Amino acid sequence: MAIATINPTTGETVREFVSLTKAEIEDKLSEAHRAAASWRMAPLAERASVVRRAGELLDERKIEYGRLMTLEMGKPIKAAIEEAAKCATACRFYADNVERFLADEPVDVKGERSFVAFQPLGVVLAVMPWNFPFWQVVRFAAPAIAAGNVGLLKHASNVPQCALALEQLFVEAGAPGGVFQTLLIPADAVASIVADDRVAAATLTGSEGAGSSIAAAAGKHIKKTVLELGGSDAFIVMPSADLDAAVKTAITARTINNGQSCIAAKRFIVADSIFDAFTEKFVAGMRSLIVGDPMDERTNIGPLATAQIRDDLDDQVTRAKASGGRVVLGGKRREGRGFFYEPTVMTDISDDSPVFREETFGPLAAVVRAKDVGDAIALANDSRFGLGAAAWTRDDNDIERFARELEAGTVFINGMVASDPRFPFGGVKKSGYGRELSGLGLREFVNIKTVRISKAGLAPTSNTE
Ligand code: NAP
Repeated sequence: MAIATINPTTGETVREFVSLTKAEIEDKLSEAHRAAASWRMAPLAERASVVRRAGELLDERKIEYGRLMTLEMGKPIKAAIEEAAKCATACRFYADNVERFLADEPVDVKGERSFVAFQPLGVVLAVMPWNFPFWQVVRFAAPAIAAGNVGLLKHASNVPQCALALEQLFVEAGAPGGVFQTLLIPADAVASIVADDRVAAATLTGSEGAGSSIAAAAGKHIKKTVLELGGSDAFIVMPSADLDAAVKTAITARTINNGQSCIAAKRFIVADSIFDAFTEKFVAGMRSLIVGDPMDERTNIGPLATAQIRDDLDDQVTRAKASGGRVVLGGKRREGRGFFYEPTVMTDISDDSPVFREETFGPLAAVVRAKDVGDAIALANDSRFGLGAAAWTRDDNDIERFARELEAGTVFINGMVASDPRFPFGGVKKSGYGRELSGLGLREFVNIKTVRISKAGLAPTSNTE
C-alpha cells in the first residue's frame, strides 16, 4: 500500500510520501536506542511533564488535528475533534497517575527489605491502524513515555500526515530527540525492526493477519507483544430493556466512526418478543442518518476510509444475501465520488453468514433473534472474537449473567462499549491479548522486577526457584 493521503470523500490523492530507506531506518533505530538509555534515567516528574504538555497541545490544537484526521480517513469532524480531546484526557490521566503506577510495591518478608519495582523496557515499536489515527497512538505513547520507554511508530499507510503530526507533537511537548519517532515505512519492513536487538517489545492494533505476523516475528526473537485486534461485538436487547434508549444507542454504537471501530456493535441479538418492535425503530433511525461530507458538522456518516474497505463491505453483503440474509435497509455503495456506503440493516442471518462470523467494518448491522437470556449469551459468545459486548436489560438476574458469562474484554450493561483511560482495554480470543489504558496497560511494557535485600546480608536458605 502506497504511503499517501487519499481523501476518502473525493477519492483524490492529496499527498504522497516516500518510505524511509534502510539506512534511514537504521539511523532512527540508533537514535531510539540512544534515547532509551537516557530517558529511563530522566526524573519521573520530567517524563510526566512531557506527557502533560502533549495533552495541553492536543487540547489547543484539537480542531487542527481533527481536520487532519477527517481529511485522511473520513470520520465526521465533530468526532475527530472529540478524539483529539480524548487524547488530551489520556495524557492528563497518565501525567497525574504515573508516579502511583510505578511506585515500588513492598512485600512483607521477615529480615528483608523486599519490593517489586517497575522499570522501563526500552524501545517499543507500535504498529497502529488508521481508524482512530490519534487515539490509538496516544493511548500507547502516553503511558509508554511516562514509564520511561521510547516509542517508534509505524502508522497505517493512509494516515501519514497524522503520523508526522504526532511525532511533532511529542517533540514540541519537550520529549528529547529519539523518545518518539515516526517511521514512514510499509508493512513488510516491520518484521526486521521487530527482530532488531535494539527493539525490546512491540504492540499492534489492527487486523488478525497483521497481529499474527508481528507476534510470529516477536516470538521468534522472544519479545513481548500486546495485540489489540478486531471484534464482532454483540449488542443484546432483552424484553425488560428501555427500548427507545436501546435503539438510540444501538444506532450510535453501529455507526460510530462510520462503522469502522473495533468496538462498534456489529451483531444485534434481540429477544424474540421485541424483535419486530426493535427492528422497526432501528431501521427508521438508521434511515434518518445523514451520509455525506465528513467536514460538515451535520453529517452522521462519512465515507469509508479506503475503496478496498467499501468493496470488502459490499462483498460481505453479497455473500450474506447468498446465505439467506435479507437486506431491510441500504445494502449498496453510493454512486459518485468518494468511498460511501449506505447505512445497512440485515435480518434472517444464518449461522454461517459472513455478517455474523466475520468482522464488518462499516455501517452494516446484522439483527438476530434470541429465544431467551441463555440463547442470547450463547449467540454472543459464538464468535471467534471477544473484544466488547453490550446488553440492555432491567432484570437483575440477566445483568449478573451478562456481566459474568459474556466472553469479552469489556462488558457494558445499558450502555455503549467505549474505552476510558481509567479502565483496562483489550480482548480475548482472536481479539488479541494484553491490555492498554489504566495502570495495567502501563505495566505491559515494564520489567516487573523482584528485589529482595537481606538485612543480615545472608544468602537465602532455600534454593527453590
Ligand atoms: P491492518 O491492515 O491490520 O493494519 C494495521 C497496521 O498494521 C497498519 O499500520 C498496517 O500497515 C500494519 N500491517 C498490516 N499488515 C502487517 C503485517 N503483515 N506486518 C506488520 N504490520 C502490518 O488493520 P486496519 O485495516 O488498518 O485496521 C482495522 C483493524 O484494526 C480492524 O480489524 C479493527 O477491528 C482493528 N482495530 C482493533 C482495535 C483494538 O483496540 N482492538 C482498535 C482499532 C482497530 P499498512 O497500513 O502499511 O498496511
